[in-house]
Amino acid sequence: MQTTKPFTPISHFYQNHFGNKVYKISVAVAESCPNRNPEGGGDACIFCDEWGSAAYHLTREEPLAQQIITHREKIARRYRADRFLVYFQSYTNTFSRVGPLRDRFSIALAQDQVIGLVVGTRPDCLPRRVIPLLRETHERSYLMVELGVQSFDDHQLTFLRRGHSAAAAIDAISLLDQECGVDVGIHLIFGLPDEDDATIIETARRINRLPVHNVKLHNLHVLKGTPLSEIYRRGEFTPLSLEEYGRRVILFLRHLSPAIYIQRLTAVASRWEELIAPDWTREKMRPSQTIEDLMRDNGWRQGDLLSI
Ligand code: SF4
Repeated sequence: MQTTKPFTPISHFYQNHFGNKVYKISVAVAESCPNRNPEGGGDACIFCDEWGSAAYHLTREEPLAQQIITHREKIARRYRADRFLVYFQSYTNTFSRVGPLRDRFSIALAQDQVIGLVVGTRPDCLPRRVIPLLRETHERSYLMVELGVQSFDDHQLTFLRRGHSAAAAIDAISLLDQECGVDVGIHLIFGLPDEDDATIIETARRINRLPVHNVKLHNLHVLKGTPLSEIYRRGEFTPLSLEEYGRRVILFLRHLSPAIYIQRLTAVASRWEELIAPDWTREKMRPSQTIEDLMRDNGWRQGDLLSI
C-alpha cells in the first residue's frame, strides 16, 4: 500500500493486517504505577499528571465493559468504524496481579467488534509471571504492547525521574518480541535538556536495530501540578518551539527505517486547563500537519538518510 504521507503511518499496518480501518478505544483500569506507589518512592515522572496519561474522558469508576461500549458507540458514530482495538492506556497496566489482568483482557476481547488489545506499560514492569499471559493473548487475538521508553539516554531518564534505565528498555523490547511474539510500540519524548542532533540520530539508529514495530512521539510539555511545572517555574526548563520540535522530529524520521510505523508525531494536551507550556501543544492538527508539510515541501521522507 502506497502512502501519501512522507512517513509510514500506523494506519497502513492496520489496513494491511486487518484489511480495514481500525480504531482504538482507550480505557482506564490500572490504578497506579511503580513510581506512584509509596513502596516505589512515590515520585511520579516529572511530566506526569495525576491521571497517569489517561485521556480526558476516561473514568476508572466505570466498569471496563461499560467504558468500551460507551466509547465504541461514540467512535463508531463519528468515523463509521466497526473494528476496534481496546487500548489499556493509563498508568502501568502490567503493574497488577496476573489474575485480574487476565480477566480484564477477557472482558475486553469478549466485546462486539473488538479484534485485539493494546497494552501500555513500563519497560521495568514485565515480570516473568506476566509473560505467559501476554503470549497466550497474542496467540488468541491481536496484541500490541506499548512501552514508555521515553529516551535511550540514562541521564535523560534520570532527569525525567523514570526510575528505569535504557538497558531495561532494550531488554523489555527483546523480551516482548522473543518470548511473547507481540508487536512492540515505544513512546519517545523529544525536547529534553541537552538533547542534540547526535542523540536524536543515535536514537533512530538504535531503534532500527531493535524489534520495534511502531513509535509514538511526544514533545516534553508542562502540565500543572507536575514536578516539571516547578522546574519550569524556576526557569530551569524551556519547552521547544514548534519549529525546533518539528526539526528534531524530521531529523529522527529521516534516519528511521521506513519499516517502522509512526503512531503519532506530537503530544496533544487532552486537558487544556492543565497545560502551562508550550501553547502549541493545545492544537490537535496543526503541529503534525506543519511537520508533514515541511517534509513534503522539501522532498524528505522517513528513512531517506538511513544509510548515511
Ligand atoms: S508516566 Fe507512567 S510510570 Fe511515570 S508516573 Fe505517570 S503513570 Fe507512573
